[in-house]
Amino acid sequence: MLECQSVTRRFASFTAVDSVSFRVEPGEIVGLLGHNGAGKTTIMRMITGALEPSSGQVTLDGLDMQRHSLELHARIGYLPEQLPLYPEMTIVEYLDYCAGLRGIDNRRERKEAVQRVVYDTQLEDKLTSPIQTLSRGYKQRVGVAQALLNNPKLLVLDEPTNGLDPEQTRHMRDLIRRLGQSATVILSTHIMQEVNAVCDRVLMLQQGRLTLDEPIAELADRAVLHVQCGDPK
Ligand code: ATP
Repeated sequence: MLECQSVTRRFASFTAVDSVSFRVEPGEIVGLLGHNGAGKTTIMRMITGALEPSSGQVTLDGLDMQRHSLELHARIGYLPEQLPLYPEMTIVEYLDYCAGLRGIDNRRERKEAVQRVVYDTQLEDKLTSPIQTLSRGYKQRVGVAQALLNNPKLLVLDEPTNGLDPEQTRHMRDLIRRLGQSATVILSTHIMQEVNAVCDRVLMLQQGRLTLDEPIAELADRAVLHVQCGDPK
């Protein structure tokens, strides 16, 4: 369904992503694992169509991301690493505003979409709270909620547990597993434990190159991964 074919992205003379190829099948939860600067965000931005590959191709459902970006945009939900939230808006106001940006013009449809994503992300108890009063965990859930507004078949989550405490992390991982029952998910992380806990498959990225593409169930010796990734957790 999602395919990256020899995708390369250069910034001036620096190659951030170097000839990366992989497929993500419908219904999978795939973890893009790598250190800071490995190229995870750059790949995710190319997957969502926000950034054009220097060479190679990203396709979704067989359609080229750059040539069909408007059509494909509607099938993708994206949680960027730094989501601009409007601190003085309440959760409901913010999600209603985001729904408008997604082209849900009809007021009743917007209300239904907001109700659906609030329910999916368990935000009911904070609906009228201004965003600036929320914990980091709630803010991330608002970020996931906005990504769900157009009912995407592909969810792209850039470091969804970054900065969360253990309880918030547990909650976010449960949420992603639940969402993975009805959508295909690709998430980035630098924590192998997260991939183990949530994902069906791991893609390991090192200095812009894909060094591993393996179903979690088939990883014979996960300790090898800790060594390769240098992850102490
Ligand atoms: P992190 O975990 O820190 O978010 P990452 O794996 O997501 O890291 P990227 O943000 O994709 O890594 O960055 C990969 C490399 O590309 C880094 O060296 C970064 O400095 C560089 N890079 C990313 N975007 C740009 C840009 N717009 N211009 C120049 N260099 C960039």
